[in-house]
Amino acid sequence: MVRGGNEMINIATAPLDRLSDAEWEKLCDHCGRCCLIKLENEQTSEIFYTNVICRQYDIEKGLCGAYPERKERVPGCIVIRQFGNEIYSQLPETCAYRLRYNNKPLPEWHPLLTGNTKKMQQAMIYVSERVVSEQSIHEEQFEDHIVDDIM
Ligand code: SF4
Ligand code: SF4
Repeated sequence: MVRGGNEMINIATAPLDRLSDAEWEKLCDHCGRCCLIKLENEQTSEIFYTNVICRQYDIEKGLCGAYPERKERVPGCIVIRQFGNEIYSQLPETCAYRLRYNNKPLPEWHPLLTGNTKKMQQAMIYVSERVVSEQSIHEEQFEDHIVDDIM
């Protein structure tokens, strides 16, 4: 992208605070991992991932179905850029925002590097084919959906 005449920015490598909002959005690979329901053991604070995904997630399209108004629709939904730096360690390890915050390179499958989603699909990064919607699960059943790995 060209800025102010000749200034170019590489979204994949630029510090997060140098990105415009539009550039920031391009870093997201839409994996859906941050939209999985997580459970916390209140005694140990241990976090467990489930294969249950937020009710607003459109499994067919592999995208949030309420992105512009996500905060209003789902009070627990976190707008990463508006949150403090402590959020990054809570994001999935493959998340571009977590990686770039820690000054790590994007994975070789990231669509910004490959220009398409083929490698990302091969690496099984998308969760949409392996999840169930929160809409179809009773809250008491969430524990039955704990997964060992983030999938
Ligand atoms: S985990 Fe990160 S890269 Fe994946 S959808 Fe969430 S914000 Fe985007
Ligand atoms: S509201 Fe959208 S972005 Fe937020 S957790 Fe749900 S599906 Fe994900």
